[in-house]
Amino acid sequence: MADFGGDTELEAFRVEAAAWLKANFPASLKGKAAMANAEGTGPTDPDYQAWKKAIGDKGWATPTWPTEYGGGGLSVPQARVLGQEMAKAGAFNPLTFGMGITMIGPTILDYGTEDQKKTHIPPIVKGEVRWCVGYSEPNAGSDLASLQTKCEDKGDHFLINGSKIWTSGAQYSEWCGCLVRTDPSAKKHEGISFILLDMKQKGVETRPIALIAGDSPFCETFFTDAVAPKDALLGQLNQGWTVGKRLLQHERASQTGAAFGGRQVALQDVAKKYVEVDDAGRIADPDLRTRLTRHLMDSRVHNLTLARAAAEAKNSNNPGSAASVLKNSATHVAQTRAELTLEIMGAQGLGWEGADFSPEEIEAVRGWLFGKAMSIYGGSSEIQNNIISKRILGLPDTTQST
Ligand SMILES: Cc1cc2nc3c(=O)[nH]c(=O)nc-3n(C[C@H](O)[C@H](O)[C@H](O)COP(=O)(O)OP(=O)(O)OC[C@H]3O[C@@H](n4cnc5c(N)ncnc54)[C@H](O)[C@@H]3O)c2cc1C
Repeated sequence: MADFGGDTELEAFRVEAAAWLKANFPASLKGKAAMANAEGTGPTDPDYQAWKKAIGDKGWATPTWPTEYGGGGLSVPQARVLGQEMAKAGAFNPLTFGMGITMIGPTILDYGTEDQKKTHIPPIVKGEVRWCVGYSEPNAGSDLASLQTKCEDKGDHFLINGSKIWTSGAQYSEWCGCLVRTDPSAKKHEGISFILLDMKQKGVETRPIALIAGDSPFCETFFTDAVAPKDALLGQLNQGWTVGKRLLQHERASQTGAAFGGRQVALQDVAKKYVEVDDAGRIADPDLRTRLTRHLMDSRVHNLTLARAAAEAKNSNNPGSAASVLKNSATHVAQTRAELTLEIMGAQGLGWEGADFSPEEIEAVRGWLFGKAMSIYGGSSEIQNNIISKRILGLPDTTQST
């Protein structure tokens, strides 16, 4: 990894990044980040595919990952500069589909063998595969350590039977990072292992579940005599809880709302289109004005805290317990914004479809509904509070589930 000591080097890198983006990011994709949420490994649009190949070859979709596995090898400050230049250019990371970049890849880099890193990291870096995460089960959500999916050692392979639920993107994924029970006689946290499971096999079935917001982003996933080779274990046998917790920290770190802020339309400007303003051009209703101001302050404080946490982390990509604080605060800011948006839009903020509503109004309703999931996925807000009280504040342990 290059050692960038001072601002001069960082500014030189900024110039390099801007020039590379100018040469490689297709103008037709400007502001179309939502494309990366498409099924599978992204849309077939030729410009999207060209952008995916360019950034994958450069390693800049995973800017801080080691170059020996295809990553960008950038320092954390350089990666931040790259992010700023991408935002300026209206560019986006086209490889954010699935859980490869945000969760599985970083966990393989933390715990994988050399062979696992060489096998699994390059296809993630280039966006050639999609990963899902198989943690939750019908009787194991917040109390994840109660999971029962059985994984038996059959000598030359593992045999897996059981079911998972809420597996995001399972229907599109080639691989799953899966927590399984390998020792039913051990204490519940101690008999768990982490398996890298091939989803494209006879023993795996996925059934999409429809969400209130209209789409089916996740599945029930069934394993019936699914198989995995012995070298599919990530970390040690029966020590999957430690690996699994690390993945959750990476997940929460990716849900801190680092992306929002600059790119959203300012809510006060949305408000002025829908509600009365006074002679001074302010929102006339003092109650709404106060709540909106409070939200804008919360949002600003969240973004400043994110920036401080990033600066304190310096060159480290290691997500600590602070990810729980930031995840909860990002959730609060995003859900409040969604609720205020609907309130501001009034009757126009009740549309689901049809010509009477603008695309922004329909998007606001669907976004508000999907936003409900933020305080559930990645561990609910209450579970984050438990982690904060235990790991950061050092309060007595009230739960075994975190
Ligand atoms: C959109 C979305 C995507 C998801 N994607 C995935 C995925 O890809 N892979 C995956 O494995 N899972 C996924 N999940 C599942 C998610 O991780 C679980 O829903 C979550 O951990 C909560 O578990 P649960 O739904 O079983 O709720 P429960 O654990 O039953 O909790 C119900 C309520 O009780 C509260 N509660 C429970 N225990 C405690 C406690 N000890 N202290 C205080 N309050 C408590 C919770 O906060 C919650 O309000 C997804 C969920 C959503 C909504």
